[in-house]
Amino acid sequence: MRIEDLNVSAMIANNKLSEAISSLGFYEFRAMLTYKEVFFGTKVEIVDRWYPSSKTCSCCGHVQPMPLSERVYACQKCGHTQDRDENAAVNLKNCPNNRVRAVSSALDGFPGLKRLRSPEACRRHTRRASAELTPVDRCLSRLPW
Ligand SMILES: [Zn+2]
Repeated sequence: MRIEDLNVSAMIANNKLSEAISSLGFYEFRAMLTYKEVFFGTKVEIVDRWYPSSKTCSCCGHVQPMPLSERVYACQKCGHTQDRDENAAVNLKNCPNNRVRAVSSALDGFPGLKRLRSPEACRRHTRRASAELTPVDRCLSRLPW
């Protein structure tokens, strides 16, 4: 699973976007994806924030300006048209690996991580999830996002 490394601080500084961005809870969303990665053994990857996922044609690779008001990508080179977000999603999926990093690398070095990645440990953790903070909760709360 790939997500964009959005510059949320800058987006919140934009008066037109700030309320929408804040209410979406991007930071919490990313934290929860990472949390579930540990639970289910999925892999969450972050794509470089400068990768032009919205401006690039997912069909031919042409890059063109895409104002936020445009909801459909209409390629000026090959004529391909696609919903803006779907086009960006395809580009994120096909993004070169040198512009992608694993979220889990941020978890390296946290004690108990390998143990908690096992399916049995996840089942035990899920059973007591509503109880008190676990070691993973404490580790996640110290991460830099
Ligand atoms: Zn194109």
